[in-house]
Formats: sequence, C-alpha cells, structure tokens
Amino acid sequence: MTDTTRAGIGLDFHQLEEGESLILGGVEFDHTKGTVAHSDGDVLVHAICDAILGAASLGDIGVQFPDDDPAYKDISSMELLKKVLEKVDVKGFKLLNVDSTLIIQEPKLGSSRVQMTENLEELLGVPVNVKATSTERMGFIGRGDGVGAQAIALLSKEESNE
Ligand code: MG
Repeated sequence: MTDTTRAGIGLDFHQLEEGESLILGGVEFDHTKGTVAHSDGDVLVHAICDAILGAASLGDIGVQFPDDDPAYKDISSMELLKKVLEKVDVKGFKLLNVDSTLIIQEPKLGSSRVQMTENLEELLGVPVNVKATSTERMGFIGRGDGVGAQAIALLSKEESNE
C-alpha cells in the first residue's frame, strides 16, 4: 500500500448588498451589507468545499449541490461542507489540512478569525488556517461591492500497488 496525496484549490466570490446577512466561516457578522446567494452565501466555506472536492476529482459545489435545487435554498454552508466531507470519504479520501484566504475590505475580521478557525477545525477535524487580505480599496471588493475567498486542501488516499 502507498499513500497518494492530492491537492485541490477553491475560489469563490459573492456580491454584497444591504439587507442581506453576512456569514463567513460560520460566523455571523453585524454589518450593513451581506452576501447575495442561494445558500447562506458563506464565501469562505464555499472556497473550502471546492478545494476539497477538487482534490478528490469531484467537480465543484455547483455540480454537487445545484443552485436551482430547492433542497439547498438558504442551506447553511457548514452543512454543505459536511456533505462534501462525506462525499470524499466515500471515495476513500482523508482530509489532511486546509489553508484559506478571505479577500474582504470591510468589516475587519478581528477576533472572529479565531472563531472561524475553531468552527472549521471542529467540523473538519484537521488543521485549518484562515488568512485575510483587503484589496487596498481597489476594485469591486475594495469598494465593498463583493467579497472573495481562496482555499487549498490536501487529501490522502491509500492505494494498493498491485
Ligand atoms: Mg459561493
């Protein structure tokens, strides 16, 4: 038996609008704007889902959880992430770690970053890192019209060498 390791990347963006809720890494923020989405619009968790699915060659969350399916309307993205973990488990993959970056101008994340990390590590059971950057007020993220996230995940699988 040999261990095969596979990396996957994820990238996501959502529009920000007044009157919507802002949930990032499972933490709800008190902010004037929130993400426009079919689910709860947790852009960080979506990027992590795509990174994990990508490493397992399982497409992306759009393929696995179509946004025209009423079953996923307003669903918690943490629930989607749990389902992603089940799907990679079925294919024999084990998650090793996740690194991620939120790309956001406002609000400043402050200590919420610790809470996001704890939420994700509790659900995934592996080390998770959450970084953050702004775009120095440039572009749609800098103007506060949107938010983005990027993630990478490493998975391993035991393969028999016949
Ligand atoms: Mg998304």
